[in-house]
Amino acid sequence: MGSLLAIDAGTTGVTALLIDENGAVVRRGYREFPQYFPQPGWVEHDADEIWAAASQACAEALADGAELDGIGVANQRETTVVWHRETGKPAARAIVWQCRRTAERCEELIEQGLAPRIFQKTGLTIDPYFSAAKLEWTLNHVPEARRSPSRFAFGTVDSWLIWKLTGGRAHLTDMTNASRTMLFNIDAREWDGELLELFGVPRALLPRVQTSSGRFGETRGVGFAPDGVPIRSAVGDQQAALFGQARFKRGEAKNTYGTGCFLLMNAGAERPKGGGRLLTTLACGADGSPVYASEGSVFTAGSTIQWLRDGLGILESAAESEALAVSVKDAGGVALVPALAGLGAPYWDPHARGAIFGITRGTTRAHIVRAALEGIAHRSADALEAMEQETGARLPQLQVDGGAAANNFLMQMQADLLGVPVNRPAQVETTALGAAYLAGLQTGAWSASDLRSLNPLERRFEPEINPDERAEKRRRWREAVERTLTRRS
Ligand code: ADP
Repeated sequence: MGSLLAIDAGTTGVTALLIDENGAVVRRGYREFPQYFPQPGWVEHDADEIWAAASQACAEALADGAELDGIGVANQRETTVVWHRETGKPAARAIVWQCRRTAERCEELIEQGLAPRIFQKTGLTIDPYFSAAKLEWTLNHVPEARRSPSRFAFGTVDSWLIWKLTGGRAHLTDMTNASRTMLFNIDAREWDGELLELFGVPRALLPRVQTSSGRFGETRGVGFAPDGVPIRSAVGDQQAALFGQARFKRGEAKNTYGTGCFLLMNAGAERPKGGGRLLTTLACGADGSPVYASEGSVFTAGSTIQWLRDGLGILESAAESEALAVSVKDAGGVALVPALAGLGAPYWDPHARGAIFGITRGTTRAHIVRAALEGIAHRSADALEAMEQETGARLPQLQVDGGAAANNFLMQMQADLLGVPVNRPAQVETTALGAAYLAGLQTGAWSASDLRSLNPLERRFEPEINPDERAEKRRRWREAVERTLTRRS
């Protein structure tokens, strides 16, 4: 049996992993690509540069030559690409998920009272984060695409890469990516005519939507692999990580601790009621078919530690935060709310700012560092508690990944604050793994029941405090958050 190539096309770079039939990583490649910031708050990519980085990362992962059974694609979500079908050239710069240029347009839609209807159809709150207003903006600036839509194509980064991988033969996306565009009805599982009209999007521009594990065409003229290798999966990065962590059952969740924290909980076949505090999105069930998921984002997590290092200069390295935190028995009454870029789920207060409370003459940098790590764990607990309320599911345990999940103190604190075990797998590149797992379901490399054992636990953190202590810590935390809010939630 041959190997699988997994592509994780992220926001700043592309990782490619060559994965063997046991799900083990054989070789990896990585390439960064440029970011463009033409105005404050604007973020763009050159889609050709994303493809170049992907090709180079794949060539590096395949350098020793390998027989490929298939390719899986995971990608940064929401980022919007429009290209010419004849030439395969981008018609404009890709507008990145972080780009805020459509903020005014989104305000206008909110003022028109469209939020409940859009949430009902798409599971999303109206925000510049999502593709619809970005695509509208691009079409306003490339008027030919509205006049002769059949000559152009729109896609998120998965569609773009599939187009390039297949030499322009396949224009496809998957349900998880479609569910982030704000043009897709997550219950009917189809592009929504009313939303296409609202944003002035001709249907001829759109990719066909498939389930995440399936056939997405075959390679053609890519250079790093022969023609005819099937593309067997496409999936948005956070949903890929959920699948890579084998979270197939209702109530199971993963949290990725990177720059921010991204929490995803599998909500199963029934759509969560959703009170507007979290997003509802599509993820993958055990066989790759769509299930609902609840998603919460915490904007600043690991970046708080970067700020302690680079902004305050009280840390030499991010890793040092662990040793400092355990050098004191508690945070000495200090609470740090890491709202450095506003508060995301479940508060949604973009104007809130970070705060440090409870400083005394005895406060040391160790107390502040410890309070920062505790704050990150509390913020994740805030989002997870809201998820339990919205989905009605009780979290049995939490799977973790991302750079800051390496911090043992942070993971122990997370287990303590949630009152459930926190599991850290051996292989933390779960996004690429998720794309590979979905692709391997197609080749017969493994079945859904094998996936739980492909990436064994490296360490399990059991809760070590009692419920009363937990309740008291959470109560004091909520008081601190209350004091940072600018609008009352
Ligand atoms: P991203 O993919 O968002 O760039 P990563 O998953 O690579 O992020 O994680 C990097 C982030 O994690 C940085 O913000 C860094 O400050 C933080 N980080 C890395 N190692 C540790 C650690 N041992 N303790 C706390 N934070 C850490």
